[in-house]
Amino acid sequence: MNNLIEIIEKQRDFSKILAKKPLDYRLQKLQKLREALKGEWQQKLTQAMKADFNKGEVEVRLTEILPTLDNIKILRKNLKQWTRQKKVKTPLMLFGSTSYTEVQPKGNVLIISPWNYPIFLTLQPLTNAIAAGNTVIMKPSEHTPETSRVMAELIGSIFPEEEAFVALGGVETAKQLLDLRFEHIFFTGSTAVGKIVMQAASKHLTSITLELGGKSPTIVDNSANAYAAGQRIAWAKFTNAGQICIAPDHVYVHKGKLEDFKKGVVETIEQYYGESPMKSEDFVQIVNNNHWERLYSMLSDASKEQGELIIGGNGSREMRKIEPTVIIDPPKQGALMREEIFGPLLPVFTYDNLEEPLKEISSREHPLVVYIYSRNKKNIRRIQNTTRAGATAVNMSLIQVANNYLPFGGVGHSGMGRTNGESGFLEFSNTRAVFYQWGMPVNKVLSAPYTKGKVRLVQKLIDTLF
Ligand code: NAD
Repeated sequence: MNNLIEIIEKQRDFSKILAKKPLDYRLQKLQKLREALKGEWQQKLTQAMKADFNKGEVEVRLTEILPTLDNIKILRKNLKQWTRQKKVKTPLMLFGSTSYTEVQPKGNVLIISPWNYPIFLTLQPLTNAIAAGNTVIMKPSEHTPETSRVMAELIGSIFPEEEAFVALGGVETAKQLLDLRFEHIFFTGSTAVGKIVMQAASKHLTSITLELGGKSPTIVDNSANAYAAGQRIAWAKFTNAGQICIAPDHVYVHKGKLEDFKKGVVETIEQYYGESPMKSEDFVQIVNNNHWERLYSMLSDASKEQGELIIGGNGSREMRKIEPTVIIDPPKQGALMREEIFGPLLPVFTYDNLEEPLKEISSREHPLVVYIYSRNKKNIRRIQNTTRAGATAVNMSLIQVANNYLPFGGVGHSGMGRTNGESGFLEFSNTRAVFYQWGMPVNKVLSAPYTKGKVRLVQKLIDTLF
């Protein structure tokens, strides 16, 4: 830790130097990171993820490397424009002045990331922080040790430690870091730990971004193409074995659409992963034994409850896998509905009237996403207006995150702040207001002593201007 404290102190000093460097410096750093991710480090990171939780090469390149590169591309393309001074209007009574905003780096920032997309969720905020001109400490997850180690080497090969540094370690390291002072904390992880981060940040009044989890619901209404919905939801739910913050957690399907929906889900699982999904190389493991135990006990409890199991239901401790499992109409207060599932278990609830899922969704904490499968514009609008969430995706799941032009984040228990593209850049920036007086200031006319004439003038201003 002593070494880490030294590095953070160096970063604090260097952040002041960095703030004065031209924009080209940041662009060059982003370019170096881009070259590294397109070059030899891509393979090293892919191998590390295979070792950590058997994640296939294609998925690592598609869901971790590609979106990080896409964010770098957007940043490099737009940074000049985003960092320009932006003139704002001047009200009449402030005649003789000009006002504008300019974005400045926050300073020395901390990024704490989870294990489920360890590369993207560490390096994407890093790219935003670098673009905004900050020095950065990253603390990736201890549950993906190989990936975290390779990222530490990669960052060490591009940045001096006073500029960007990966601190390896677990909860203790994260706690020690949270005790120290940073200018911004960008945390991605569970809601429970998000609360700890917020409390720690309050000690130094540090600004925070919290990218948290939750139970993102999906509604398939009576107008939907339920077969296609089943296919798309199965893809979204069982990719990464459901270990995705925006995976559909549970689904509400209109009773008249259930059979089509079931067909879409079951056919897709069989098509993707064959008859024995646990043997499929493309179906990833559960990240560690603790999470496997958590999910298996959820599954065991759910099997004892009512509900129709339509596929899956088994797990293997040795392989650290659990089959893609779909259960129709388990109890609403049952094992699958008490916490975020974050694994390959999908409860599906049938309903007659749209009012039912809307009431249930509104009674829970706000999720990251509400997914809607519908061809009825009125229903889509009604769902959108009745629920609160960080995002909505209509007739597709998961893929919305791939649009780096869309702000990404939660609301309430699913988080605060936004990342991706310009939103991510602004999260690491201080938008500074600048007021420039070039003519006679207003106090020349409107200061004490308040004579009758001045009182009349103020009244005139109120009457005419507002
Ligand atoms: P986690 O909250 O357990 O851990 C995240 C990070 O916090 C890790 O680096 C860990 O070392 C650290 N940490 C853990 N306990 C801590 C403590 N007591 N004090 C300080 N730091 C601590 O989350 P996880 O299990 O790694 O990831 C899964 C969770 O993350 C899920 O809830 C998921 O929904 C959420 N998530 C959210 C997003 C998003 O973008 N909103 C993305 C991915 C994952």
